[in-house]
Amino acid sequence: MTTGLMTPDPVATYIVVIAIGAVIGSFLSMLIYRLPIILKRQWERDCRETLGLPGPGPAPAFNIAWPGSHCPACQTPLGLRDNIPLLGYLLLKGRCRHCRAPIPRRYFVVEVVTVLGALAAFVHFGLTLRGALAFALTAALIALTFIDMEEQILPDVITLPFLWLGLIANVAGLYTSLPAAVVGTVAAYVFLWLMFQAFRLATGKEGMGYGDFKLFALAGAWLGWQLLPLVILLASLAGALYGGAMIVAGRRSRATPMPFGPFLCAAIWLALFYGTPVMAFYLQRSHG
Ligand SMILES: [Zn+2]
Repeated sequence: MTTGLMTPDPVATYIVVIAIGAVIGSFLSMLIYRLPIILKRQWERDCRETLGLPGPGPAPAFNIAWPGSHCPACQTPLGLRDNIPLLGYLLLKGRCRHCRAPIPRRYFVVEVVTVLGALAAFVHFGLTLRGALAFALTAALIALTFIDMEEQILPDVITLPFLWLGLIANVAGLYTSLPAAVVGTVAAYVFLWLMFQAFRLATGKEGMGYGDFKLFALAGAWLGWQLLPLVILLASLAGALYGGAMIVAGRRSRATPMPFGPFLCAAIWLALFYGTPVMAFYLQRSHG
């Protein structure tokens, strides 16, 4: 592990890593909430335009930066100290300062998970370009997981740039060789597309969405084709266990579609951090 690029003091380094994780986590909370709204407004505009319908009328500006953070219940803008990542939520004890409406726990969960992701990337890869990009991918996977859980979409504006980023990182061979990454990208997309078509022919249902193909292609771009079987195995296993548990617990019927994206995201993350040792162990065992 390479360390010591920036500060020699390990405690200070950990504090900086945690702070970066908390700030990015706070950004992700906001993105998870706003991006689906922005995309739906865009789709509505596009549909109306295609159908020649009048526009939805002037709506107040809404984008990633505007309006500033506010209470979803009473619309009161958040003060500076309420906006501090992690601490803001704890100091407010999870309630709006003005109307006492509960703030969704997801905001806090996303920030904590992102801090853990930053620490994992730092411990695993050190203060290196590999570590920084691994954390960037972790952040993207966190956003995709929560958006897919809540909205059943995997936005292209996240999957596609990160697919390209994986290919570019592997031009320098950061996670795998460039040929393995390129073959992995194409093989992953084609594999899931074929599964999708076969499933649809067999059952008449659509088991996945095109977002899943792009997310799996992203996995190929970062990990190379060699780790794709591990990713699909882990994701399917986790999905089946979760789905089974939910049916047993009576919280989901067999017919309710379940997003596959969160399981794919978790599997990609595990493969990026631990895939190579797992495969090495497995290959060693299977060859005696
Ligand atoms: Zn409020």
